[in-house]
Amino acid sequence: MSFKEVFDQYHWDDIKSSIYNKTAEDVERALRHSDRDIEDFKALISPAAAPYLEQMAQISHELTLQRFGNTMQLYAPLYLSNECQNICTYCGFSLDNKIRRKTLNDIEIAREVKAVKDMGFQHILLVTGEANQTVGVDYIERAIKQIRPHFANVSMEVQPLDQEDYERLIQQGLHSVLVYQETYHKADYKIHHPKGKKSNFYYRLETPDRLGKAGIHKMGLGALIGLEDWRVDSFFVALHLDYLERKYWKTKYSLSFPRLRPFSGGLEPKVEMVDRELVQLICTYRLFNQEVELSLSTRETNQFRNHAIKLGITTMSAGSKTNPGGYAVEPQSLEQFEISDERSPEVIKTILEQNGYEPVWKDWDLALESAI
Ligand code: SF4
Repeated sequence: MSFKEVFDQYHWDDIKSSIYNKTAEDVERALRHSDRDIEDFKALISPAAAPYLEQMAQISHELTLQRFGNTMQLYAPLYLSNECQNICTYCGFSLDNKIRRKTLNDIEIAREVKAVKDMGFQHILLVTGEANQTVGVDYIERAIKQIRPHFANVSMEVQPLDQEDYERLIQQGLHSVLVYQETYHKADYKIHHPKGKKSNFYYRLETPDRLGKAGIHKMGLGALIGLEDWRVDSFFVALHLDYLERKYWKTKYSLSFPRLRPFSGGLEPKVEMVDRELVQLICTYRLFNQEVELSLSTRETNQFRNHAIKLGITTMSAGSKTNPGGYAVEPQSLEQFEISDERSPEVIKTILEQNGYEPVWKDWDLALESAI
């Protein structure tokens, strides 16, 4: 059974009313549990949990310390291309956005790699739009072959692929894949993805299944916050995670919580999520799952990121550029979205240390991980 069959048993409106009907009693029960289930998740994500935020933050902090210690993994994204054949209403790279398109060649990739390495990073996240003619699997495979020897860990966030393609890329040393569903609301998904391969809701929904079957080391899930009711979307992320962990138990998992950010030609969020609510979401994920990595990008403000260090986050990007060639080749090309925290990796490192955290540029070698 793939996640599609699980997903189809749930109805958005029923989940929504069951979350909004949770009471203080449900929240207190969820807080008392040591092994929390999906009903506890609903209670903790509900409006009824707002008065318990301090308590949730404290538990989240302790659980994260127990499992991950005082460490923070650091990574940088490397945008290889802004070519894209899809229309996504919230993205600067959307096909209908008239921008100059750019795909890095081998020489340009080498320059970007050097710039990212010079900042100290050992973990890199490769990002492209979806344009099979220019940045299809062959291009990605070649890029991974070129980049892998320079980094301890290579992740990617590109279009969903077939299982065989993932197998091919894993053979080249690909460690993890991030694939966000954007929204689990089927009708709204259609509105935000009217054209291109990405408009196929179920193909995207089943991507983590294909990754699990391909034997990926780690995968990242999430919803884009602002498209639909974030509490319901987050419920589906938790449900998806729970399903995947049981089925593909050799794979590790990470979650992200990107909030819509301004970009050229931007979309106003349908649903605003305030900072306190993002804290609630981070803590709820941690209280629900003690093993999952929680990742925070430079979309968030300096102040929020400083505060979030002790909430349950285990992974952060720093000094990010969200345009192809942004580090060294073509710093002025158009970004996918505006980043908010523009501080250098060096500054982030100092802040982590001031908070008693050890910045980790590299955890351990893949060879070691595979041997365990
Ligand atoms: S979100 Fe991805 S698929 Fe959609 S337009 Fe942007 S780059 Fe293309």
